[in-house]
Amino acid sequence: MRIVNADLHCHSIVSDGTLTPEALAARAHGNGVELWSLTDHDEVGGQHRAAAAARALGLPYLCGVEISVTFAGMTVHIVGLGIDPDDAQLVAGLAHTRGGRERRAREMAEQLAAVGIRGAYDGALKYVGNPELISRTHFARYLVETGVCHDTHEVFRRFLTEGKPGYVEHRWAALGDAVRWITDAGGVAVIAHPARYAWANATQEYALFAEFKAHGGRAVEVVTGSHSSAEIVRYADMAREFDLAASRGSDFHSPDESHTDLGALPYLDGRLTPVWELLAHRVLH
Ligand code: AMP
Ligand code: MN
Ligand code: MN
Ligand code: MN
Repeated sequence: MRIVNADLHCHSIVSDGTLTPEALAARAHGNGVELWSLTDHDEVGGQHRAAAAARALGLPYLCGVEISVTFAGMTVHIVGLGIDPDDAQLVAGLAHTRGGRERRAREMAEQLAAVGIRGAYDGALKYVGNPELISRTHFARYLVETGVCHDTHEVFRRFLTEGKPGYVEHRWAALGDAVRWITDAGGVAVIAHPARYAWANATQEYALFAEFKAHGGRAVEVVTGSHSSAEIVRYADMAREFDLAASRGSDFHSPDESHTDLGALPYLDGRLTPVWELLAHRVLH
């Protein structure tokens, strides 16, 4: 049960990835993934396409989403796995969470213009597959295209992050709401890539885990594309400490940008409870 090449986190053109749901399904299958989930940001518009493509390949599939949350003034991502993508409360909650992205994008472009980078709003839009989901990643692609930066990672080091030009504060969903939307839609809520949050102190991180659990959250990503081996060990310990199941996902966005390909990840530690043990009844075959 533990030695499963599950990849339960990635993005398509429906959010900030560059591949279609069908191309991702084929790539996951080709890479040996045995259980797959597409988890677009704040959006389930790709779920039926992903599920159909996976079914045609004989690839077991869990419907998924990655919800942007504001917790203690920080942006945290909560993945939902095994959700019903047509659940009315979830669909409405995600639509509300997506609102405000366009205004934020216009402010980001104004800040970039102030440091001499012109045309960023229209430039970012060229990369947007879903008009409701303009994201920082689309701006990053434009800054690479125009030669301002060498790659998208450099963009996030120099721009678009707190304290840098192009960073606009934004209020996303509340933690309790996101966990409730996922859980009420039949899914399991998962703390995404926990090592990627720049907490001011360890207490804040404990508060996230404790409140997440209190709201009904049941899992944490232990193995993800952006975790070092030390971080994998640290969050395996956190999973045990908080009695959470463990998830595994590449967070793949693009063949040109992502360091970790679909399915190309270390296996979960056999002493952890894999999140798919909680979701056997939600897997689509
Ligand atoms: P947004 O939802 O518009 O705030 O955009 C967040 C997205 O930007 C994330 O999902 C990542 O795809 C991307 N991103 C954020 N920080 C970085 C980073 N340091 N390096 C590369 N991509 C990043
Ligand atoms: Mn992303
Ligand atoms: Mn994320
Ligand atoms: Mn992601």
